[in-house]
Amino acid sequence: METFDAYKKQVVDTAQSLTRKGYLMATGGNLSVRLPGGNAFAITPSNFDYFKMTLQDVCVLDFNLNVLEGALKPSVESAMHAAIYQARADVNAVVHTHQVYASALALINSPIPTLFDEQARFLGRAVDIIPYAPSGTNFLAKTIAKHVKNHNNAFIMKNHGALIFGHDMERAEHNVEILEKSSLAYLLALCSDKPISKIPLAVREIAFAKLRKDQKKVEQGIMETGGE
Ligand code: 13P
Ligand code: ZN
Repeated sequence: METFDAYKKQVVDTAQSLTRKGYLMATGGNLSVRLPGGNAFAITPSNFDYFKMTLQDVCVLDFNLNVLEGALKPSVESAMHAAIYQARADVNAVVHTHQVYASALALINSPIPTLFDEQARFLGRAVDIIPYAPSGTNFLAKTIAKHVKNHNNAFIMKNHGALIFGHDMERAEHNVEILEKSSLAYLLALCSDKPISKIPLAVREIAFAKLRKDQKKVEQGIMETGGE
């Protein structure tokens, strides 16, 4: 096995798993994993069928977007992924999806308040909306880098889709699922004429403190990140 093959495999396997589950569709979205050493990442190629993707198709880039491995064009959102890894030392996997229910909230500009315990524990205090910027631009990358510093692990991108992080790829995939469940439940609740209740503030803060503790362990290199 070549040096980064285990990481490239995580990218391919997760892309296919998320497509099978309906969180990625057609060639939309993109995902990446931070590589050992911390200053490079493996990312999906642009506009490429996830089920035809092999390890050789995955691109390896440094944070200046120099291609270190791979012959295909890297995702147009590579600058966004690089900006996130630079802004968040605790993040080792980034998934960008066009998942439907979170995307519906992106259209009505509705952030998700803390509705569920597991949401606060794994996604953070709330799912905020990141203001619109066109896909694949440096403007989008800069806007995102500014907003992700609040330590949350899921965001909705206005008129675009969703952005989800994890300390490893498995956690990032689970966080995609928690975000979509929270989005659907919130949308259904919004359709009723009933007030929407949130979890108690104290519980939210305890759950968020656990997330922050995990993040600090990753920053200090104490927590396993799923690499090989
Ligand atoms: P890529 O196929 O270039 O990754 O673009 C998909 C996308 O979701 C752009 O925001
Ligand atoms: Zn997109």
